[in-house]
Amino acid sequence: MSKRDYYEILGVSKSASDEDIKKAFRRLAMKLHPDRNPDDPQAQEKFKEAKEAYEVLSDANQRATYDRFGHAGLGQSGGRSSAGGPDLGDIFGDIFGDIFGGRAGGAQRQRRGSDLRYVLELDLEDAVNGVEREITIPTQVSCHHCAGSGSADGKTTTCKTCNGHGRVRMQNGIFSIQQTCPTCGGSGKTIANPCSYCRGSGVLEDEKRVRVKIPAGVDQGDRIRLSGEGEVGPKGSTPGDLYVEVAVREHKIFKRDGDDLYCEIPIRFTTAALGGELKVPTLGGSAMLKIPDGTQSGKIFRLRGKGVQSVRSNSVGDLLCRVNVETPVKLTAEQRELLEQLDTSMGGEGGHTPQSASWLDSVKDFFSRIGA
Ligand SMILES: [Zn+2]
Ligand SMILES: [Zn+2]
Repeated sequence: MSKRDYYEILGVSKSASDEDIKKAFRRLAMKLHPDRNPDDPQAQEKFKEAKEAYEVLSDANQRATYDRFGHAGLGQSGGRSSAGGPDLGDIFGDIFGDIFGGRAGGAQRQRRGSDLRYVLELDLEDAVNGVEREITIPTQVSCHHCAGSGSADGKTTTCKTCNGHGRVRMQNGIFSIQQTCPTCGGSGKTIANPCSYCRGSGVLEDEKRVRVKIPAGVDQGDRIRLSGEGEVGPKGSTPGDLYVEVAVREHKIFKRDGDDLYCEIPIRFTTAALGGELKVPTLGGSAMLKIPDGTQSGKIFRLRGKGVQSVRSNSVGDLLCRVNVETPVKLTAEQRELLEQLDTSMGGEGGHTPQSASWLDSVKDFFSRIGA
């Protein structure tokens, strides 16, 4: 199938300026954009064609190639956007942003207050067990002097700029674009006698207190949405939402990994050698941990179900205890003597120090291979 000439598609001459090409594409895009023609495959095809033509002709290199060699010069790429291709977002941002952006709200764009974000610092215990907090957030609240209307006497008049439509047509080059009315901000009404406290805006800067229920099991970065607790919109329109984001403070003993808790526990070298029982901390209190004899430093013991109850499911994590065997310090003369006796008793005989034994074997093997 032979392709149509790009200049012909856009309806411009071969000597058209970049600006002319952009304008021509905008005009076509307004008419043919798929958002405006959802049930018209022909319009969608034409839109694709125009977009391809624009992509080529708006790029100086591709346009020069096309001028010299026609479609053949562009090869397989056929006008596919190269890495340095035109930024269509820019085109659609300024045209469609305004025209199509308001679709959801119907003729009068629905206006809404801003969402707010609040970072709530919690101790690990509160994050794990859940807690209720009252937070104070700076926000805009509805002006209580005028009940949010912005009018001192409660009266409004129809906006003269837009005749109450809330939107006005603006001439932008050859385009006529609809915009939110700058006089009334889209409400279609103006206030003759504005409220002196809020200067007619209907909102005041203030703080508000909100109670937040933090469910048990939340973790760093979890967000709780409080619908309608954000900033109030202009003149009493729907308020935004408040997002409370959890930040968990570092804990002295426990680290959290998903629903598991992790802690390091120093133990005596005699306990490690002889075995014994240790009282270890858990978030709920304490638990007994059995240390088998011959426990090596770094060994991790798992206490099932002593972790965190997941906020998203019924599962409960574990508590992982990593034991660190401590070398005794500040020995008395008697202790020193006992240790020397122990050392003599263990010396020469293998099997008491499993890691050293296998390490010594490796070293011997290494020396024999290098002939040391
Ligand atoms: Zn207006
Ligand atoms: Zn007011």
